[in-house]
Amino acid sequence: MTTERNSRAISGTECRVTSVDGEKKDRGISGENRAEESVVLPAETEEKKRRMIRRLLTWYHENRRILPWRDDPTPYHVWLSEIMLQQTRVEAVKEYYARFLSALPDISSLAAAPEDQVMKLWEGLGYYSRARNLQKAAKVVCSEYQGRMPETASALRKLPGIGAYTAAAIASIACGEPEPALDGNLMRVFARVTRYEEEISQRAARETAEEFYRGLFTAAGKIRQETARISAGDGTVSGQSSNLYGTLNQALMDLGATVCLPNGAPVCGACPWSACCMAHLQLPGRETDLPKMPVKKPRKIQQYTVFLLQDADRIALRRRPPKGLLAGLFGFPMAEGHLTDREALEYVRGLGFSPIRIEDAGAARHIFTHVEWDMVGYAVRVDELAKIRYDSNGGEDDIILAGTDEIRGRYPIPSAFRHYREWILNRTGGWQ
Ligand code: SF4
Repeated sequence: MTTERNSRAISGTECRVTSVDGEKKDRGISGENRAEESVVLPAETEEKKRRMIRRLLTWYHENRRILPWRDDPTPYHVWLSEIMLQQTRVEAVKEYYARFLSALPDISSLAAAPEDQVMKLWEGLGYYSRARNLQKAAKVVCSEYQGRMPETASALRKLPGIGAYTAAAIASIACGEPEPALDGNLMRVFARVTRYEEEISQRAARETAEEFYRGLFTAAGKIRQETARISAGDGTVSGQSSNLYGTLNQALMDLGATVCLPNGAPVCGACPWSACCMAHLQLPGRETDLPKMPVKKPRKIQQYTVFLLQDADRIALRRRPPKGLLAGLFGFPMAEGHLTDREALEYVRGLGFSPIRIEDAGAARHIFTHVEWDMVGYAVRVDELAKIRYDSNGGEDDIILAGTDEIRGRYPIPSAFRHYREWILNRTGGWQ
């Protein structure tokens, strides 16, 4: 049987796998020390689970990412960061996180803020329903929980915009609950470590992954004092000992984000679980075959013409409808299809404006989850915007006439319109 001393030497060093399903294999792992041990099948026995925990925490202690929301992991901070991190890169989130917290430092200030302020703070992050739900949930927390976030995953899941993953992340990282936070990172690591070959998006995959991680969490709970010493790194018990499960989730998140990568080859040589990972041991060089992903439907492409309507002072913005894509945010008036400049002028006249000049504002694309906008744009100088309200649907349309300062600082304009926003801000003042 492998000794603990051996297993520590193997982590991040070189080992010889003596038996994998009856085969003999050699596996080189970078490092100076050499050791030898039997392959460790993932999480089969209590001792193997403990070994995985020790290796993961040792690795995390030395390699964890320094992230602003980890400095003071209150429920609000964890919640805000997790919502921002959905669909968004860590580096991009850092600045937004700091700006948001400086404007709305706690749940009550978020609940009381004007919605347009919240949207403006979110401008450019995309998936704006996240921000809207964040504020809705803050209002519920204030009205039903006296401004304190609930501390269990099951209670957190009842709040708007908080799903199973986010609830588990908040409950474990901020409140110490033993809840595995199953996101894409954890699912990918699970699929590779256990060589799970069914489609990963299926409910059964999630249930199996949850069982796998709960088994690890339970094993970790039984060696809590030891894990605390690993987290401290010097044999003493660190502050992290009080939050073993939050630390485990963050270690798994970091493992998935920095070693068992979502795009490109995993860095198995630096992985604390390389000696027990079935994909690495049994599918060498083909670890990325897992997880098995569902076949993606091609995105629907929608063509639009964007109008930058401007008079001597202002630019027309249109508040988007309350439901659907980019609901309630501000954009520019749009028509379906790609219009020629002649058609565009007719369209503008049809709205009741008198165009004075038209200029090509270029083409742009924006990719949403299921749809792609393929846009062309025209800047049209008209005699007076205020005379007529834009009304494309036969009903009252929410047109705002904005100066450039308001476009910069007041109205939340999503990144789908970034090209045209920049175009008009760069040109305004120079073309009148
Ligand atoms: S050994 Fe490689 S494939 Fe397996 S969990 Fe580690 S990084 Fe991922």
